[in-house]
Amino acid sequence: MSRPPFPQIPPPTPLAPACGSCTLVGAGPGDPELLTLKALKAIRAATVLFVDDLVSEAIVAQAAPTARIVHVGKRGGCKSTPQAFIEKLMRMAVHAGENVVRLKGGDPFIFGRGGEEVESLRAAGIAVHVINGITAGLAGLTALGAPLTHRAHAHGVVFVTGHAKPGDAAIDWRQLAATARAARLTLVIYMGVSGAAGIEQELLAGGLPADTPVAIIENASLPRQRHAVTTLHALHATILREGLGSPAVIVVGDVVRGVAAQAEAAGSHASREQPFSTWA
Ligand code: SAH
Repeated sequence: MSRPPFPQIPPPTPLAPACGSCTLVGAGPGDPELLTLKALKAIRAATVLFVDDLVSEAIVAQAAPTARIVHVGKRGGCKSTPQAFIEKLMRMAVHAGENVVRLKGGDPFIFGRGGEEVESLRAAGIAVHVINGITAGLAGLTALGAPLTHRAHAHGVVFVTGHAKPGDAAIDWRQLAATARAARLTLVIYMGVSGAAGIEQELLAGGLPADTPVAIIENASLPRQRHAVTTLHALHATILREGLGSPAVIVVGDVVRGVAAQAEAAGSHASREQPFSTWA
């Protein structure tokens, strides 16, 4: 009786390189209670977290005790980890099989170079997931109790950076002012504090009335939140007088009147250090 032929065994396939995962997570404006459930789950499941410096410690503390925390943040004008190096570290961690979370302030896709990171990772063949966070531009005026749109006062919102990339054409503030006026749009300016004098001048030159209400909100949603409410022609002077600095958003438009109305309804004038946060 002849034996059946030995079944052909295919040659062993080379082991696929260990491959982890990569998720860009929006940490929101600072208050940990403003994290989404999805963000919290991702943070807790990460084995390594690359963290921006606008992310509060209370949020980083949600990571597993065994997770590696790598701070890669940058603050305007300060030395920081170069973007290309951050992207390289993330690629290496994914290839090493890590469960990588890139923790970014606010929403990962509103400024903060989330788009560049996703492009670089995808170009390297890495699948990237993105989890939204509450962007600072939303949190700022909400923290003062006023809306960004209102059927009677603003038909839309523009999120704009006050700080264009070096070498890029400057933002056409005059055009933006004319459009905002004609279309009744609220302007929410990120990274605008250091260039506020020029922004004020150009928005006025573009036709926004000098008495357009403006709010500057620093550290929105955090216990150290501060704000000032003023009018466009006094924007820069108010920032100087109150010593407001980064991180802050500047909100320009009639909806800002809602802040004063809200304060009056509460029986007091808008205090500059009012705890709106439900910080635990
Ligand atoms: N991805 C972020 C924005 C990054 S750019 C987001 O969606 O919010 C950084 C700028 O965001 C800061 O210069 C500031 O203008 C704004 N910002 C971030 N956190 C803030 C906060 N808690 N309060 C006010 N402004 C904030």
